[in-house]
Amino acid sequence: MQLKSIQDADLKGKRVLVRFDFNVPLSKTEPRTITDSSRIDQAIPTIKLMLEKGASKIIMISHLGRPDGQVNTKYSLEPVAQYLADKLGTDVVLSESAIDNGVKNLLHLPETKLVLLENIRFIAGEEKNELALAEKLASYGDVYVNDAFGAAHRKHASTHAINAFFKNRAYAGLLMKKEIDSLSSLLDKPAKPFVAIIGGAKVSDKIKTIEKMMVMVDTILIGGAMAYPFLKAKGASIGKSLCSDEDVNLAKHLLAADRGGKIKLPKDHIVSDSLEGAPAPCPGVSIPEHQIGLDIGSATIAYYSDYIKTAKTIFWNGPMGLFENKNFSKGTMSIAHAIAANDKVFSVVGGGDSVAAVQQSGEAEKFSHVSTGGGASLEYIERGELPGIQALKLGV
Ligand code: AMP
Repeated sequence: MQLKSIQDADLKGKRVLVRFDFNVPLSKTEPRTITDSSRIDQAIPTIKLMLEKGASKIIMISHLGRPDGQVNTKYSLEPVAQYLADKLGTDVVLSESAIDNGVKNLLHLPETKLVLLENIRFIAGEEKNELALAEKLASYGDVYVNDAFGAAHRKHASTHAINAFFKNRAYAGLLMKKEIDSLSSLLDKPAKPFVAIIGGAKVSDKIKTIEKMMVMVDTILIGGAMAYPFLKAKGASIGKSLCSDEDVNLAKHLLAADRGGKIKLPKDHIVSDSLEGAPAPCPGVSIPEHQIGLDIGSATIAYYSDYIKTAKTIFWNGPMGLFENKNFSKGTMSIAHAIAANDKVFSVVGGGDSVAAVQQSGEAEKFSHVSTGGGASLEYIERGELPGIQALKLGV
């Protein structure tokens, strides 16, 4: 069954119910402001297209954070409503709740075009994929659009159960389509050499991705805290670097399975005696007893850059070090610059932290695709499908 795109939908005079992923990071202190608006910005073309196509009302659903089925003003979509109104130059009405009677009234106000329903995760039925909640939401729209790629790996009422009420009236939004097209081109005959760059903190979170990558790619460059379990598994000392016994075991299995020698590990590091301490180069593979590895070193940057230079396809997930601290961001920034300098590569970056790192490097424009989905992009690569996308195709 083919996914139907919103580009082919007749929306004239229709009320369109749309699931977006407006789960943006907010400042920790009041007033809560959006610190990275990428996810909203990437959804705007879909909103504009629906307006151009003559939709009479656009009713938007999203989650924000993890309020766990309880109303919690900390996770209100108010800043998102404000941002959308400013960006689109039009009124955006935020409902008090996604399911109160007031929503129906809003739908009858002739002057209100854009309605944002309050955080759908304030309602317990959302994460339980509850049919009754899906039915209530479905009553607001004539057609359903899912543009929330970042939430498509979840079976929730507004991403999964809801499709049952929109058979042949359900469409993928522009961002959803773009995400699927870009990630599918990694899976479907990618140009070689294909290099995966996997960093971040935990092997256990990404083991399935690495296993899948071992079949698909020519080279896997490992960086960040992800590297230490691998180095320890190979007998190197890693000082006080982040590493769990569980991850060392997983790394041992991956190394044993890697008969082609695709997995590449750092040759040197930037270390410190604490997370806030001064950075110091550590020229060898082993890290002294009282030091913490916090970034890849210059020899590793050069070693990895050589693979990046000649790659035709790159998938990157996870930073090369504690990049949020400027003292330990050079490895991650250098990798971003190296990818950006290769103008022949099809490059995809996925995952919250790596996306933030690419934005920080100022090179985002040079990437072929910056995915809005962290967990969703990894799961899509592992399985070639996601529950939310499958439901959108099949209407289940
Ligand atoms: P992940 O969500 O698994 O991609 O992990 C991203 C986080 O890992 C970021 O917050 C990084 O700062 C952190 N990280 C990466 N390398 C290191 C390291 N060597 N030591 C401590 N944290 C790290």
